[in-house]
Amino acid sequence: MRMKINCLSCGHSMELSDAYEDYQGEVRCWGCRTTLQVTIEKGKLKAMQRGVSDREVPRQPVE
Ligand SMILES: [Zn+2]
Repeated sequence: MRMKINCLSCGHSMELSDAYEDYQGEVRCWGCRTTLQVTIEKGKLKAMQRGVSDREVPRQPVE
């Protein structure tokens, strides 16, 4: 069963094959090349966040 995820950066819809039914790791967006860290268990998306490179710069206000 295929599933779709949307890129957190550009919203591009990606269809993942059966190979991702149990998967933890990186998925590269075809649209903007953002790396997404995904956790998929039994065909369900458990977690998704942007890749390490984006998290190196925290966007917290500096007071
Ligand atoms: Zn994207």
